[in-house]
Amino acid sequence: MTAQFNRRFSLKPNGETMSEPTVADPEISVVIPVYNEESVLPLLFKRLYLVMDALGRSYEIIFVDDGSRDRTAWLLQQQFQARPETTRVIILKTNFGQHAAIMAGFGHCLGRYIITLDADLQNPPEEIPHLVAKMDEGYDYVGTIRRKRQDRLWRQVAGKAMNRLREKITRIRITDQGCMLRGYHRDVVIPLLSSQESFTFIPALAYLYAGNTTEIIVEHEERAAGRSKYSLFSLIQLYFDLMTGFSAAPLRFFSLTGIGVAIASLFFVVYLTIRRLVVGPEVEGVFTLFAIAFFLIGIGLFGMGMMGEYLGRIYHQTKQRPRYLVRTILERPASRGKPGVDHP
Ligand code: UDP
Ligand code: MG
Repeated sequence: MTAQFNRRFSLKPNGETMSEPTVADPEISVVIPVYNEESVLPLLFKRLYLVMDALGRSYEIIFVDDGSRDRTAWLLQQQFQARPETTRVIILKTNFGQHAAIMAGFGHCLGRYIITLDADLQNPPEEIPHLVAKMDEGYDYVGTIRRKRQDRLWRQVAGKAMNRLREKITRIRITDQGCMLRGYHRDVVIPLLSSQESFTFIPALAYLYAGNTTEIIVEHEERAAGRSKYSLFSLIQLYFDLMTGFSAAPLRFFSLTGIGVAIASLFFVVYLTIRRLVVGPEVEGVFTLFAIAFFLIGIGLFGMGMMGEYLGRIYHQTKQRPRYLVRTILERPASRGKPGVDHP
């Protein structure tokens, strides 16, 4: 899979592994998943490289093209040609999703500090030095809290609700899980790569492996151009990944609801039996009974669906399909003969 493309990485039975960094390796890796972002890339290049150059540290920027169908891959290739010493481009075969794309970037990065960033400039690259400063202080996981989130209202409401639910059912303490601008130490990314989860939520998974976490407040901008790649449906899927990937509490919730309903029904049966003996059989209230029955059927179906979510994930996991497949990697040295990307 990915290993054959890169001499630095070996594919072990349990997944990709990073090699030990060498002196020549850059200090900071910035990993950016990119999916159909042709309209923002030029501005991203301008702002990002300016910030990184001004930082005065050695760095590499890894763009992962997540199967884009617009001119993204071509633009990335142009950027690689313009800045080959600090740019690497991983082009995936097809669209594997944002988190899989980040994993692909992780599997190939060389830096000690690894920073993830969205391509759409919602996370301003100008915040990177603040993340690096925190990592210099010794934190191995630097999360971020968006000062004022610039997204659609429904996204903000859904995000907040999900944050709250996750706080309740997992031991992951992140204030703002949705912001992908984050800094991870290499020591956190290594176990992340060895956990072979088909679906995952990187900020949450990394949190589990971090020893010394902190959070900083960052600015959040509106998308510079283009549209969000998350539809309502893909967002629901992501939220389910987050819930089922880190906790079995939803299942427990249904067991407890089941017990509660059973106890309540028992009381109901006892009451009806006594009533029948004392007052006689009842005939009214049929529709109330319907309402209760439908409500309980609804809970039952929801519970079954929830079980299905876990089951489906187990099913996918057992297939052990690769999380992503690499089409090509553009990087120095040129000796490995990398095919170019045609202008679509
Ligand atoms: N992205 C990706 N693959 C996907 C969807 C999104 O690599 O299947 C990238 C996208 O190009 C962007 C980042 O992930 O860099 C976040 O996506 P987006 O801005 O659409 O999400 P939102 O900000 O609306 O949550
Ligand atoms: Mg965005």
